[in-house]
Amino acid sequence: MKVPFVDLSLQHSQISDELNLRLGELFREQSWVLGPEVSRFEGEFARYMNVSECVGVANGTDALELAVRALSLEPEEEVLVPANSFIASAAGVLRAGARVRFVDCDPEHGLLDVEDARRRATARTRAVMPVHLYGQAAPMESVLALAKEKGWFVLEDAAQAQGARRGGASVGTFGDLAATSFYPGKNLGAYGDGGAVLTRSRGLAEKVRLLRNHGSPAKYAHPELGFNSRLDSLQAAVLSVKLTRLEAWNAQRRACAERYREQLAARCPELGLPSALPGNEHVWHLFVIRVPARFGRDRVLAELQRRGVGAGIHYPVPIPLQGAFASYGHRAGDFPAAESMAREQLSLPLFPGLTEEQQDYVVRSLRAALDGSEAPS
Ligand SMILES: *Cc1c(COP(=O)(O)O)cnc(C)c1O
Repeated sequence: MKVPFVDLSLQHSQISDELNLRLGELFREQSWVLGPEVSRFEGEFARYMNVSECVGVANGTDALELAVRALSLEPEEEVLVPANSFIASAAGVLRAGARVRFVDCDPEHGLLDVEDARRRATARTRAVMPVHLYGQAAPMESVLALAKEKGWFVLEDAAQAQGARRGGASVGTFGDLAATSFYPGKNLGAYGDGGAVLTRSRGLAEKVRLLRNHGSPAKYAHPELGFNSRLDSLQAAVLSVKLTRLEAWNAQRRACAERYREQLAARCPELGLPSALPGNEHVWHLFVIRVPARFGRDRVLAELQRRGVGAGIHYPVPIPLQGAFASYGHRAGDFPAAESMAREQLSLPLFPGLTEEQQDYVVRSLRAALDGSEAPS
């Protein structure tokens, strides 16, 4: 048996007829970049996320960059970014010309450690970026309370959590701005790159709209320099059709995660299992377990792969310890919780349509990998 890490063909088979009709209309209309199909999706996604403004852009990293640019930070000003995330969270800030200040994560869920954010902030800190990692919201009450006390902006990275809620409120509605990604493997994925900036501020949305399209409020008017970071109609059509299934697909992810949790608790009690922070509606972008050091995570991963189970690691190296951030001078030991997660984390296959047989095979393979891997004591 083979269990891929993610299989998008099942989603496609559910939408292909409807999507083909929509694409047929687009081929007749011949409007490819921005245009009515993109505006339509922006409106639908804004309603779904419960914000007033959605600005479609070329990808999630651009969404973060343009969101930071909209805040008009000075070059020496800092944004607090979690060490345990995908590198784009930090790259978006750097590309906007601001500085990153890295923050450790909580050892249980891997989300932003708000007390650590308080400790690491400086007089130049202007914003904090909670990342709604693996499909669940960061602890937003404490993030918002700290930001309010300090007068910081809040920019949410919601790339991994489309449809997730906290206390009933959708991610992306807590901060000044939120960025998301429609990379194909995300919960709401396009058939190529895409992203969006969400906000309730008309002013900030207007700023991002200018920046994504050459600083241009009207054709050939360029009061400032912007970028080319536009969402195209083909992606918008895919996203618009997929959005109508997102709740159902997220429910399937939740059912798979529950099943993994039950089976693994019974059969692999040595593992650390992921859970939802109280108050969170988790959408399980990733199912990330912890393999205790004595088994050797990399050995377990290799054995799973040998057995045809597509597992992954999110993420093997905390962002501040990546070569790209060498100039920041961080060393091993600076982010103890993120570093320990990086050593132990293992992501299991989880996607809408994953079958019970496949899940059982993953659990059996994991059991065998653990039995074969424990270092002799
Ligand atoms: C995917 C992702 C992004 C960026 O998305 P791209 O569309 O690949 O640029 C940003 N942050 C996180 C946490 C992500 O997982």
